[in-house]
Amino acid sequence: MPHAPIIIATNTIKSAFLGLAIGDAMGVPVEFKPREYLIEHPVTDFMGFGTHSQVPGTFSDDASMAFCLAESLIEGYELDRTAHYFLKWYKERFWTARGSIFDIGLTTQEVMEKLADGHSPKFSGKYTINSNGNGSLMRTLPLAFYTANLPIHERFRITTEVSKITHAHALSYISCFYYTEFARELIQAKTKEEAFQNHILNFTNFLSTISPDEGTMPYFERLLSADFDSLASPEIKSTGFVIDTLEASMWCFLNTSNFSDAVLKAVNLGDDTDTVGCVTGGIAGLFYPLSSIPAHWLSQLARSEDIVNLAERIEFRVES
Ligand SMILES: [Mg+2]
Repeated sequence: MPHAPIIIATNTIKSAFLGLAIGDAMGVPVEFKPREYLIEHPVTDFMGFGTHSQVPGTFSDDASMAFCLAESLIEGYELDRTAHYFLKWYKERFWTARGSIFDIGLTTQEVMEKLADGHSPKFSGKYTINSNGNGSLMRTLPLAFYTANLPIHERFRITTEVSKITHAHALSYISCFYYTEFARELIQAKTKEEAFQNHILNFTNFLSTISPDEGTMPYFERLLSADFDSLASPEIKSTGFVIDTLEASMWCFLNTSNFSDAVLKAVNLGDDTDTVGCVTGGIAGLFYPLSSIPAHWLSQLARSEDIVNLAERIEFRVES
């Protein structure tokens, strides 16, 4: 008997998209600040200027690339189309918050230049262990919605291909898939604890079917243990390394009980604040109701109406 389709309400997509952009924008002014500094001077609201001299509510490359991915999926998934939209961001400032790119990862920048020179997105990504920044994880959430009702190997294939445009190492694409699969569990579960327990069971089973390189598995050990959320904060790094970002985001989401607390906890871990904010804000937005996002954050967020409109244009959801 076929499984019942997973129902995704438009409001869930709106809230996830607004959530990831708010988390990104919250972190932009304090990107690279150490944790010790943020313990003394915690972020509690949108701030202006700081690291990148941007006005309050300005999201960065993270949300821009996530929205480019979403835009490309509206017409149906095709690798070339997704790469085209990423390049449109890089060259034409498409989906930037206020018309400029002030933040971009080294790997992404290098690959955008290759794509601009006509390289195929199938072979453009970087494969080395040192090319595992969080640049594909930060943009991957729209795939959770697009692939929700596809078989697991299709979900994995598409998520992997999109990561590989820039980040082709297994640590990066498995991190992306960990995140979108957790998001898919969150859409279906009543509590986040239930979602997490189902996720570690299902994801561990899945990994055994693809047998990744044995060097890869130890990196996911903590993320696949039932008591991951009880790690103490000094154990959680929040650097731009993809595993650190994924761990920090999962840990902040699991250790808070509303949207604002999740996002602020993420940003106040310090270091790669915008991306940890974005990755946390995406799942927090998805899980908590749209109405739980503070109105004064929505009103200050750049392009919030366009973001809502983007979510409304997504027709691949299955609605009740
Ligand atoms: Mg950024």
